[in-house]
Amino acid sequence: RFITVEGSEGVGKTTNIEFIKHWLAENRIEFIVTREPGGTPLAEQLRELLLQPREESVDETAELLMVFAARAQHLNQVILPALRQGKWVLCDRFTDATYAYQGAGRSMNQDTIAQLENLVQNGLRPDAVILLDVSVEIGLQRARGRGELDRFEREDVAFFERVRAGYLARAANHSGYHVVDAGQPLDRVQQQLNLVLATLKAD
Ligand code: C5P
Ligand code: MG
Repeated sequence: RFITVEGSEGVGKTTNIEFIKHWLAENRIEFIVTREPGGTPLAEQLRELLLQPREESVDETAELLMVFAARAQHLNQVILPALRQGKWVLCDRFTDATYAYQGAGRSMNQDTIAQLENLVQNGLRPDAVILLDVSVEIGLQRARGRGELDRFEREDVAFFERVRAGYLARAANHSGYHVVDAGQPLDRVQQQLNLVLATLKAD
């Protein structure tokens, strides 16, 4: 099983990934946890290059290619081998983040992204995408309270409104998405996660 956790800034990915890890361990499921961009030494270097605030404006095609370069490395070196060994893979962000950030956020052509997705993934998609959703106002308040902002976190509110809308639109139009209202108290969020995980395990 390949599960990804998605959402805009400050939705609680880290906390809820910890919760999912505990659930997997309790259920004696073999798993790995990884993240994008990143997950291998080379892909982590690409992540740093992507997230570093810089004077030079970053060309959006260059950004898109770097995201997919990191993904190709990560997928082939880490994700696919783990899945072949029968492990569950829990990944903090994946291609839906590209549709949301580079597609909706930066207004890059969806078909171009789909072409790269085909090239890199050859049809591989997550079995479940857990989309943590919260208002941009609350999310940014949380994210910006964490200190040093990365290159994306410096974007304006309108950018994050597009990212959020992009995620919700994909969730509405594709199967395998579980949208969780991350503005609820944490125990309610985790109740919902329990249900999603139980369903996946039973499948
Ligand atoms: O910790 P977090 O998942 O937020 O860090 C990843 C960062 O990379 C996010 O700020 C997100 O904006 C950015 N990102 C992106 N495009 C992707 C994946 C991540 O812009 N496809
Ligand atoms: Mg972030």
